[in-house]
Amino acid sequence: MVAVLITLIGLNMLTAGNNPRISTEQGLSLLADAELKKVEIVDGEQKVNLELTRPEEKTGATSVHFFYVDGRQPDVIAAVNSANIDEEFTDSVARPSALWTILQLLFPLLMLGLLFWFFMNAAGGGGRMAQFGKSRARLASKETPQVRFTDVAGAEEAVEELEEIKDFLQDAARFQAVGARVPKGVLLYGPPGTGKTLLARAVAGEAGVPFYSISGSDFVEMFVGVGASRVRDLFKEAKANAPAIIFVDEIDAVGQRRGHGMGGGHDEREQTLNQLLVEMDGFDPKVNVIVIAATNRADTLDPALLRPGRFDRQIGVDAPSLKGRKAILEVHAKGKPLAPSVDLEAVARKTPGYTGADLANVLNEAALLTARSNAQLIDNRALDEAIDRVMAGPQRRTRIMKDHERLVTAYHEGGHALVAAGLNHTDPVTKITILPRGRALGYTLVVPLDDKVSVSRNELLDQIAYALGGRVAEELVFHDPTTGAGNDIDKATATARRMVTDYGMSATLGPIKFGDADVSPFMGAAGGGAPKYSGQVAQRIDEEVREIIEQAHNEAYEVLTKNRHILDRLAAELLEKETLDHNQIAEIFKDVEKLAPRPTWLSSADRPVSTQPPIAIPTAAITDVPVAEISEAQADGDEESETE
Ligand code: ADP
Ligand code: MG
Ligand code: ZN
Repeated sequence: MVAVLITLIGLNMLTAGNNPRISTEQGLSLLADAELKKVEIVDGEQKVNLELTRPEEKTGATSVHFFYVDGRQPDVIAAVNSANIDEEFTDSVARPSALWTILQLLFPLLMLGLLFWFFMNAAGGGGRMAQFGKSRARLASKETPQVRFTDVAGAEEAVEELEEIKDFLQDAARFQAVGARVPKGVLLYGPPGTGKTLLARAVAGEAGVPFYSISGSDFVEMFVGVGASRVRDLFKEAKANAPAIIFVDEIDAVGQRRGHGMGGGHDEREQTLNQLLVEMDGFDPKVNVIVIAATNRADTLDPALLRPGRFDRQIGVDAPSLKGRKAILEVHAKGKPLAPSVDLEAVARKTPGYTGADLANVLNEAALLTARSNAQLIDNRALDEAIDRVMAGPQRRTRIMKDHERLVTAYHEGGHALVAAGLNHTDPVTKITILPRGRALGYTLVVPLDDKVSVSRNELLDQIAYALGGRVAEELVFHDPTTGAGNDIDKATATARRMVTDYGMSATLGPIKFGDADVSPFMGAAGGGAPKYSGQVAQRIDEEVREIIEQAHNEAYEVLTKNRHILDRLAAELLEKETLDHNQIAEIFKDVEKLAPRPTWLSSADRPVSTQPPIAIPTAAITDVPVAEISEAQADGDEESETE
């Protein structure tokens, strides 16, 4: 790797050393008339580097640069776009003529270069080296996708926005007639597997236009200047085939904010990014090419990418809601024989937080399991197993848990479930298992009946209490807690801290946000900012958090002590059946003695308690508004005990 770095630096110095400056006018006329090998706009410096096929008259150099003032930018961009760049030379970093100079000046470096060459060949990268500069179309693939918007489910808002893009691609004249400025760039952002690539392809499929796709991560391994010239070629080709879509996947790989991070490969990334910006700025609004980019890390993108005229249209693609999940399951269930008893809505309920890709995976796993057992129809059993597999990996039936560890796990999971059942603001427990899976020894599932947008203070306190329920059961029964509760304690602490610092649920500290100011996903800087409060406040925050945890711990202890006989019975059933479903759990829990409700919360002791109730809900209330889902999967996977 050292060899690589030195060689590249050597080449750079060489071109930089013999690169005289010419005037803007001279530069523009060279762009217009001369035959060029390479043009490079250095964004931010307003500088253009030119490499010529023949020496320039006045300076006698084949490599020159010029600067331009703000006002000339349009001219420069127009000139660069129409420049006569000799295709033969593009991309070739080591040209025969330059090779001589290198030989003479940098013989030792050349040896290192050869070593590097050898290394590339040995590593199987020889093919790429050889094609370097030739088949530049290889990176960008052109296709006309057959995907339609109907293949994308549960992303109605994104589809709605993209419909407009489709209309524009199909009939630009209609928009131009009314003077509408159509977006040049659309950024799709959201977690992996939510269907961003699928959406972009669906736009092309619907509009019936060619789809050029390229992935940001492909640029990362390339040599200086190559990425930029590929971007240029990509745009050239797309423009020639307009209307068209250019899709840049994983744009964060090239579009990270400039000027931070370690040295080395950044040069390439910046040049590629600059070229992308230049191309987007440079094209005529009448040219019917739309750039769609996708990222799951919108917060790291360079702000320059998001300015008007670039990716100024941003569309969030989130993990689907309950309704969305059902729709996605329906799309992917096509062509798969489901048993009549299968209810996809029930499957959707069991999969909060799953993305489209996860759900597609669930149905596929279920089909595989069905085929493996030689059955004809996919049934609920196969689907349940598939859900578990996608969540936590295949069952580890072979793992032999020591009897005692299994017993502890049964009490631990039972503790979670029972505390959840004994509190007043929890969702029903739908599944408990002590089958080890992935890294978890077992888990308890507490799933909301409906999608929820907000969570109340009492609900949060309940969540903390039942997160601690496993640990408390271990204390109560064995007087010897295990490491199995590590994850739970993490989760409980994080929730308690957010209650104090983010949600203003501490009466002593009040509704004040502590911690870093909320950064918008686009402008936010990475890295932790300093806390915006004094050490004294930090101490009070810690105290409040400890108090919340302490309180929750007590509540969990109380529920389990009161209902100890039910805990024992639950543990026995778990040891016998390993997994209990909703109905079995409800049967065991039918006599659970609940905790008394918490006292009325007062934001301050000085304010009087209002006893006036809210108005009644009108009967014609709107009930079917689609809501975004924020309640995460509440599957609670426990860290595997490290002391086996
Ligand atoms: P992303 O690009 O956001 O990471 P993809 O578009 O690559 O996600 O999604 C991967 C696969 O998951 C898709 O090919 C599709 O089969 C499935 N999928 C994801 N989201 C959806 C959705 N909303 N509707 C239908 N299928 C989806
Ligand atoms: Mg993708
Ligand atoms: Zn646990």
